[in-house]
Amino acid sequence: MDHTLYSKIDQITLRILNGGEMSADEGRWMIRLDDDYTPWLMASADRIRKNFRGNQIEVCAIANVRSGNCSRNCNFCSQSGHHNTDSPTYDYIPTEDLVAQAKQAREWGASDFGVVSKGWGVRSDKESEKLEEYFNAMDDGSDIGRCASLGALSKDSAAKLKGIGMENYHHNLECAESYFDKVCTSHSYQENIDTINNAREAGLRVCAGGILGMGESLDQRIEMADTLRQLNVESVPLNFLSPVVGTPMAKQTPMEPYEILRAIATYRFMLPQAEIRIAGGRQHLGDMQSMIFMAGASGVMIGDYLTTKGRNVSDDIKMIKDLKLEIRGNTQQRREQKQVQAASA
Ligand code: SF4
Repeated sequence: MDHTLYSKIDQITLRILNGGEMSADEGRWMIRLDDDYTPWLMASADRIRKNFRGNQIEVCAIANVRSGNCSRNCNFCSQSGHHNTDSPTYDYIPTEDLVAQAKQAREWGASDFGVVSKGWGVRSDKESEKLEEYFNAMDDGSDIGRCASLGALSKDSAAKLKGIGMENYHHNLECAESYFDKVCTSHSYQENIDTINNAREAGLRVCAGGILGMGESLDQRIEMADTLRQLNVESVPLNFLSPVVGTPMAKQTPMEPYEILRAIATYRFMLPQAEIRIAGGRQHLGDMQSMIFMAGASGVMIGDYLTTKGRNVSDDIKMIKDLKLEIRGNTQQRREQKQVQAASA
Protein backbone atom coordinates (compact mmCIF):
# COMPACT_ATOMS: atom_id res chain seq x y z
CA MET A 1 0.00 0.00 0.00
CA ASP A 2 1.44 3.36 -1.07
CA HIS A 3 0.24 6.02 1.38
CA THR A 4 1.47 8.88 -0.82
CA LEU A 5 -1.35 8.01 -3.25
CA TYR A 6 -3.95 8.70 -0.54
CA SER A 7 -2.25 12.02 0.14
CA LYS A 8 -2.30 12.91 -3.54
CA ILE A 9 -6.06 12.19 -3.74
CA ASP A 10 -6.54 14.39 -0.65
CA GLN A 11 -4.51 17.25 -2.12
CA ILE A 12 -6.55 17.28 -5.34
CA THR A 13 -9.80 17.01 -3.33
CA LEU A 14 -8.92 20.05 -1.23
CA ARG A 15 -7.93 22.03 -4.31
CA ILE A 16 -11.33 21.31 -5.90
CA LEU A 17 -13.23 22.10 -2.70
CA ASN A 18 -11.41 25.44 -2.71
CA GLY A 19 -12.63 26.18 -6.24
CA GLY A 20 -9.69 24.78 -8.21
CA GLU A 21 -9.57 22.21 -11.00
CA MET A 22 -8.08 18.81 -11.62
CA SER A 23 -5.85 18.70 -14.72
CA ALA A 24 -6.42 16.14 -17.47
CA ASP A 25 -2.99 14.66 -16.58
CA GLU A 26 -4.20 14.11 -13.01
CA GLY A 27 -7.41 12.60 -14.39
CA ARG A 28 -5.37 10.12 -16.44
CA TRP A 29 -3.49 9.20 -13.25
CA MET A 30 -6.66 8.92 -11.18
CA ILE A 31 -8.60 6.67 -13.52
CA ARG A 32 -5.68 4.19 -13.40
CA LEU A 33 -5.63 3.83 -9.60
CA ASP A 34 -5.83 0.25 -8.31
CA ASP A 35 -9.01 -1.18 -6.82
CA ASP A 36 -7.32 -0.90 -3.38
CA TYR A 37 -7.43 2.92 -3.58
CA THR A 38 -10.89 3.16 -5.15
CA PRO A 39 -12.91 3.30 -1.89
CA TRP A 40 -10.82 6.30 -0.77
CA LEU A 41 -11.27 7.91 -4.18
CA MET A 42 -15.03 7.38 -3.90
CA ALA A 43 -15.15 8.88 -0.41
CA SER A 44 -13.37 11.96 -1.76
CA ALA A 45 -15.71 12.18 -4.77
CA ASP A 46 -18.63 11.92 -2.33
CA ARG A 47 -17.24 14.90 -0.44
CA ILE A 48 -17.00 16.92 -3.68
CA ARG A 49 -20.55 15.91 -4.68
CA LYS A 50 -21.94 16.99 -1.31
CA ASN A 51 -20.07 20.28 -1.47
CA PHE A 52 -21.29 21.27 -4.94
CA ARG A 53 -24.58 19.40 -5.36
CA GLY A 54 -25.82 19.06 -1.78
CA ASN A 55 -27.66 16.05 -0.49
CA GLN A 56 -30.20 15.88 -3.28
CA ILE A 57 -30.36 13.50 -6.19
CA GLU A 58 -31.92 14.50 -9.49
CA VAL A 59 -34.11 11.80 -10.97
CA CYS A 60 -35.28 11.67 -14.58
CA ALA A 61 -36.98 9.23 -16.93
CA ILE A 62 -37.44 8.85 -20.67
CA ALA A 63 -39.84 7.54 -23.30
CA ASN A 64 -38.70 6.11 -26.61
CA VAL A 65 -41.31 7.79 -28.81
CA ARG A 66 -40.08 6.59 -32.22
CA SER A 67 -37.88 3.55 -32.52
CA GLY A 68 -35.78 1.53 -34.90
CA ASN A 69 -34.45 1.54 -38.45
CA CYS A 70 -32.39 4.68 -37.87
CA SER A 71 -30.36 5.99 -40.80
CA ARG A 72 -27.24 6.45 -38.59
CA ASN A 73 -24.68 3.71 -38.00
CA CYS A 74 -23.78 4.11 -34.28
CA ASN A 75 -22.05 0.81 -33.50
CA PHE A 76 -23.47 0.48 -29.98
CA CYS A 77 -27.08 1.10 -30.92
CA SER A 78 -29.74 -1.55 -31.38
CA GLN A 79 -31.91 0.96 -33.28
CA SER A 80 -29.54 1.55 -36.17
CA GLY A 81 -30.91 0.32 -39.50
CA HIS A 82 -27.32 -0.73 -40.35
CA HIS A 83 -27.34 -3.55 -37.78
CA ASN A 84 -29.35 -6.73 -37.52
CA THR A 85 -31.00 -6.59 -34.10
CA ASP A 86 -34.46 -7.50 -32.81
CA SER A 87 -35.07 -3.98 -31.51
CA PRO A 88 -38.69 -2.83 -32.02
CA THR A 89 -39.55 -0.48 -34.89
CA TYR A 90 -42.46 1.93 -34.57
CA ASP A 91 -43.48 5.50 -35.43
CA TYR A 92 -44.53 8.20 -32.91
CA ILE A 93 -46.37 6.73 -29.94
CA PRO A 94 -49.83 8.18 -29.11
CA THR A 95 -49.71 11.39 -27.08
CA GLU A 96 -51.86 9.91 -24.30
CA ASP A 97 -49.30 7.09 -23.84
CA LEU A 98 -46.49 9.61 -23.54
CA VAL A 99 -48.44 11.68 -21.01
CA ALA A 100 -49.23 8.59 -18.94
CA GLN A 101 -45.51 7.73 -18.81
CA ALA A 102 -44.55 11.32 -17.90
CA LYS A 103 -47.20 11.42 -15.16
CA GLN A 104 -45.99 8.14 -13.75
CA ALA A 105 -42.39 9.43 -13.77
CA ARG A 106 -43.46 12.59 -11.87
CA GLU A 107 -45.23 10.44 -9.28
CA TRP A 108 -42.02 8.48 -8.84
CA GLY A 109 -40.22 11.78 -8.15
CA ALA A 110 -38.64 12.51 -11.54
CA SER A 111 -38.09 16.22 -12.12
CA ASP A 112 -37.60 15.83 -15.88
CA PHE A 113 -38.94 13.60 -18.61
CA GLY A 114 -37.19 13.02 -21.93
CA VAL A 115 -38.88 12.56 -25.29
CA VAL A 116 -36.36 10.43 -27.17
CA SER A 117 -36.63 9.73 -30.88
CA LYS A 118 -34.35 7.78 -33.15
CA GLY A 119 -32.86 9.72 -36.05
CA TRP A 120 -30.96 12.85 -36.69
CA GLY A 121 -32.81 16.06 -35.95
CA VAL A 122 -36.21 17.54 -36.58
CA ARG A 123 -36.57 17.39 -40.35
CA SER A 124 -40.17 18.23 -41.15
CA ASP A 125 -43.10 20.36 -40.00
CA LYS A 126 -44.94 17.12 -39.22
CA GLU A 127 -42.25 16.12 -36.73
CA SER A 128 -42.19 19.53 -35.17
CA GLU A 129 -46.01 19.56 -34.84
CA LYS A 130 -45.94 16.17 -33.14
CA LEU A 131 -43.32 17.38 -30.65
CA GLU A 132 -45.36 20.51 -29.91
CA GLU A 133 -48.37 18.32 -29.24
CA TYR A 134 -46.26 16.19 -26.85
CA PHE A 135 -44.84 19.20 -24.97
CA ASN A 136 -48.26 20.86 -24.63
CA ALA A 137 -49.79 17.66 -23.34
CA MET A 138 -46.93 17.11 -20.86
CA ASP A 139 -47.35 20.68 -19.62
CA ASP A 140 -51.07 20.26 -18.97
CA GLY A 141 -51.39 20.01 -15.20
CA SER A 142 -47.83 18.79 -14.58
CA ASP A 143 -44.65 20.61 -13.63
CA ILE A 144 -42.36 17.92 -15.01
CA GLY A 145 -39.41 19.30 -16.99
CA ARG A 146 -39.70 18.83 -20.75
CA CYS A 147 -36.55 17.30 -22.24
CA ALA A 148 -35.87 15.83 -25.64
CA SER A 149 -33.17 13.90 -27.45
CA LEU A 150 -33.71 14.10 -31.18
CA GLY A 151 -30.26 14.05 -32.78
CA ALA A 152 -28.47 17.02 -34.34
CA LEU A 153 -29.93 20.51 -33.91
CA SER A 154 -29.20 23.57 -36.03
CA LYS A 155 -29.49 27.01 -34.42
CA ASP A 156 -32.90 27.45 -36.05
CA SER A 157 -34.33 24.13 -34.95
CA ALA A 158 -33.01 24.64 -31.40
CA ALA A 159 -34.78 28.01 -31.22
CA LYS A 160 -37.93 26.53 -32.72
CA LEU A 161 -38.01 23.68 -30.19
CA LYS A 162 -37.50 26.13 -27.36
CA GLY A 163 -40.41 28.13 -28.77
CA ILE A 164 -42.74 25.12 -28.66
CA GLY A 165 -42.00 24.31 -25.03
CA MET A 166 -38.81 22.26 -24.80
CA GLU A 167 -36.68 23.16 -21.74
CA ASN A 168 -33.70 20.78 -21.76
CA TYR A 169 -31.86 19.16 -24.64
CA HIS A 170 -29.96 15.90 -24.42
CA HIS A 171 -27.28 15.10 -26.96
CA ASN A 172 -24.40 12.78 -26.12
CA LEU A 173 -20.88 13.17 -27.41
CA GLU A 174 -20.88 9.34 -27.04
CA CYS A 175 -17.09 9.13 -26.54
CA ALA A 176 -13.81 11.02 -27.05
CA GLU A 177 -13.25 12.68 -30.40
CA SER A 178 -10.17 10.47 -30.97
CA TYR A 179 -12.35 7.34 -30.73
CA PHE A 180 -15.47 8.55 -32.53
CA ASP A 181 -14.62 6.96 -35.89
CA LYS A 182 -14.72 3.54 -34.16
CA VAL A 183 -18.23 4.31 -32.91
CA CYS A 184 -19.97 6.11 -35.75
CA THR A 185 -19.13 7.31 -39.27
CA SER A 186 -22.49 8.60 -40.48
CA HIS A 187 -22.01 11.98 -38.80
CA SER A 188 -19.11 13.93 -37.39
CA TYR A 189 -18.04 14.70 -33.85
CA GLN A 190 -18.21 18.37 -34.74
CA GLU A 191 -21.96 17.97 -35.37
CA ASN A 192 -22.31 16.76 -31.78
CA ILE A 193 -20.41 19.77 -30.47
CA ASP A 194 -22.37 22.18 -32.70
CA THR A 195 -25.63 20.67 -31.43
CA ILE A 196 -24.61 21.22 -27.81
CA ASN A 197 -23.60 24.81 -28.51
CA ASN A 198 -26.76 25.51 -30.55
CA ALA A 199 -28.98 24.14 -27.77
CA ARG A 200 -27.26 26.29 -25.17
CA GLU A 201 -27.44 29.42 -27.34
CA ALA A 202 -31.18 28.84 -27.72
CA GLY A 203 -31.49 28.99 -23.90
CA LEU A 204 -31.92 25.29 -23.30
CA ARG A 205 -30.35 23.41 -20.40
CA VAL A 206 -27.84 21.01 -21.96
CA CYS A 207 -27.47 17.38 -20.96
CA ALA A 208 -24.53 15.67 -22.69
CA GLY A 209 -22.32 12.75 -21.83
CA GLY A 210 -21.63 9.41 -23.37
CA ILE A 211 -21.16 5.69 -23.12
CA LEU A 212 -18.13 4.14 -21.44
CA GLY A 213 -16.91 0.61 -22.12
CA MET A 214 -17.07 0.73 -25.94
CA GLY A 215 -13.40 -0.25 -26.29
CA GLU A 216 -11.98 3.24 -25.68
CA SER A 217 -8.79 3.66 -23.66
CA LEU A 218 -8.67 5.11 -20.16
CA ASP A 219 -7.07 8.25 -21.62
CA GLN A 220 -10.03 8.59 -23.98
CA ARG A 221 -12.44 8.48 -21.02
CA ILE A 222 -10.59 11.49 -19.63
CA GLU A 223 -10.52 13.13 -23.07
CA MET A 224 -14.33 13.04 -23.17
CA ALA A 225 -14.56 14.44 -19.62
CA ASP A 226 -12.20 17.25 -20.61
CA THR A 227 -14.28 18.07 -23.70
CA LEU A 228 -17.46 18.17 -21.60
CA ARG A 229 -15.69 20.51 -19.20
CA GLN A 230 -14.62 22.81 -22.04
CA LEU A 231 -18.20 22.81 -23.34
CA ASN A 232 -19.39 23.76 -19.85
CA VAL A 233 -22.07 21.08 -19.86
CA GLU A 234 -24.40 21.30 -16.86
CA SER A 235 -25.73 17.76 -16.84
CA VAL A 236 -23.60 14.74 -17.75
CA PRO A 237 -25.29 11.38 -18.27
CA LEU A 238 -22.92 8.42 -18.04
CA ASN A 239 -23.87 5.10 -19.59
CA PHE A 240 -21.95 1.84 -19.48
CA LEU A 241 -22.19 -0.26 -22.60
CA SER A 242 -24.56 -3.20 -22.54
CA PRO A 243 -23.47 -5.05 -25.68
CA VAL A 244 -26.40 -5.81 -27.97
CA VAL A 245 -26.47 -8.92 -30.16
CA GLY A 246 -26.41 -7.93 -33.82
CA THR A 247 -24.40 -4.74 -33.31
CA PRO A 248 -20.66 -4.45 -34.06
CA MET A 249 -20.08 -4.08 -30.30
CA ALA A 250 -21.87 -7.33 -29.38
CA LYS A 251 -18.66 -9.00 -28.18
CA GLN A 252 -17.42 -6.11 -26.04
CA THR A 253 -16.79 -7.17 -22.43
CA PRO A 254 -18.91 -5.12 -19.99
CA MET A 255 -17.04 -2.94 -17.50
CA GLU A 256 -16.41 -4.33 -14.03
CA PRO A 257 -17.99 -2.69 -10.95
CA TYR A 258 -14.84 -1.05 -9.60
CA GLU A 259 -13.90 0.19 -13.06
CA ILE A 260 -17.35 1.83 -13.35
CA LEU A 261 -17.13 3.39 -9.88
CA ARG A 262 -13.62 4.71 -10.56
CA ALA A 263 -14.84 6.29 -13.80
CA ILE A 264 -17.79 7.97 -12.02
CA ALA A 265 -15.50 9.27 -9.26
CA THR A 266 -12.95 10.60 -11.75
CA TYR A 267 -15.74 12.38 -13.68
CA ARG A 268 -16.85 14.00 -10.40
CA PHE A 269 -13.31 15.28 -9.90
CA MET A 270 -13.12 16.53 -13.51
CA LEU A 271 -16.62 18.09 -13.43
CA PRO A 272 -17.19 19.01 -9.78
CA GLN A 273 -20.24 21.23 -10.36
CA ALA A 274 -22.03 19.14 -12.99
CA GLU A 275 -25.11 17.03 -12.43
CA ILE A 276 -23.52 13.63 -13.08
CA ARG A 277 -26.39 11.25 -13.75
CA ILE A 278 -26.07 7.53 -14.20
CA ALA A 279 -28.19 6.05 -16.97
CA GLY A 280 -27.93 2.79 -18.93
CA GLY A 281 -25.69 -0.09 -17.86
CA ARG A 282 -26.13 0.28 -14.09
CA GLN A 283 -26.86 -3.43 -13.94
CA HIS A 284 -23.14 -4.18 -14.48
CA LEU A 285 -22.64 -2.96 -10.91
CA GLY A 286 -24.67 -5.86 -9.52
CA ASP A 287 -24.99 -5.50 -5.75
CA MET A 288 -22.87 -2.33 -5.85
CA GLN A 289 -25.50 -0.11 -7.51
CA SER A 290 -26.04 2.12 -4.50
CA MET A 291 -22.35 3.02 -4.58
CA ILE A 292 -22.86 5.27 -7.62
CA PHE A 293 -23.82 8.09 -5.25
CA MET A 294 -20.86 7.47 -2.94
CA ALA A 295 -18.70 7.62 -6.08
CA GLY A 296 -19.98 11.12 -6.82
CA ALA A 297 -23.09 10.70 -8.97
CA SER A 298 -25.81 13.25 -8.25
CA GLY A 299 -28.50 11.98 -10.56
CA VAL A 300 -29.99 8.80 -11.90
CA MET A 301 -32.31 7.76 -14.66
CA ILE A 302 -35.13 5.53 -13.47
CA GLY A 303 -37.64 3.32 -15.28
CA ASP A 304 -36.98 1.66 -18.61
CA TYR A 305 -34.26 2.68 -21.04
CA LEU A 306 -34.70 3.05 -24.79
CA THR A 307 -34.85 -0.59 -25.75
CA THR A 308 -34.05 -2.36 -22.47
CA LYS A 309 -35.82 -2.79 -19.14
CA GLY A 310 -34.63 -0.75 -16.17
CA ARG A 311 -34.44 -1.75 -12.52
CA ASN A 312 -37.56 -1.87 -10.38
CA VAL A 313 -38.32 1.80 -9.59
CA SER A 314 -39.41 1.20 -5.99
CA ASP A 315 -36.01 -0.44 -5.38
CA ASP A 316 -34.30 2.66 -6.79
CA ILE A 317 -36.36 5.03 -4.63
CA LYS A 318 -35.70 2.91 -1.54
CA MET A 319 -31.98 2.88 -2.38
CA ILE A 320 -31.91 6.71 -2.45
CA LYS A 321 -33.88 7.00 0.80
CA ASP A 322 -31.78 4.35 2.60
CA LEU A 323 -28.68 6.37 1.76
CA LYS A 324 -30.34 9.38 3.50
CA LEU A 325 -30.37 11.27 0.22
CA GLU A 326 -33.35 13.29 -1.00
CA ILE A 327 -34.93 13.43 -4.42
CA ARG A 328 -34.71 16.89 -5.94
CA GLY A 329 -38.19 17.59 -7.33
CA ASN A 330 -37.08 21.03 -8.38
CA THR A 331 -38.41 21.67 -11.86
CA GLN A 332 -40.57 24.60 -10.79
CA GLN A 333 -37.80 26.04 -8.66
CA ARG A 334 -35.37 25.78 -11.58
CA ARG A 335 -37.85 27.53 -13.88
CA GLU A 336 -38.26 30.37 -11.38
CA GLN A 337 -34.46 30.71 -11.04
CA LYS A 338 -34.17 30.92 -14.84
CA GLN A 339 -36.81 33.64 -14.94
CA VAL A 340 -34.96 35.64 -12.27
CA GLN A 341 -31.67 35.21 -14.16
CA ALA A 342 -33.28 36.24 -17.44
CA ALA A 343 -34.88 39.30 -15.83
CA SER A 344 -31.61 40.43 -14.27
CA ALA A 345 -29.50 39.78 -17.42
S1 SF4 B 1 -27.79 6.39 -31.27
FE1 SF4 B 1 -29.44 7.64 -32.15
S2 SF4 B 1 -28.60 8.39 -34.10
FE2 SF4 B 1 -27.29 6.64 -33.47
S3 SF4 B 1 -28.20 4.85 -34.50
FE3 SF4 B 1 -29.10 4.97 -32.45
S4 SF4 B 1 -31.02 6.13 -32.74
FE4 SF4 B 1 -29.74 6.49 -34.55
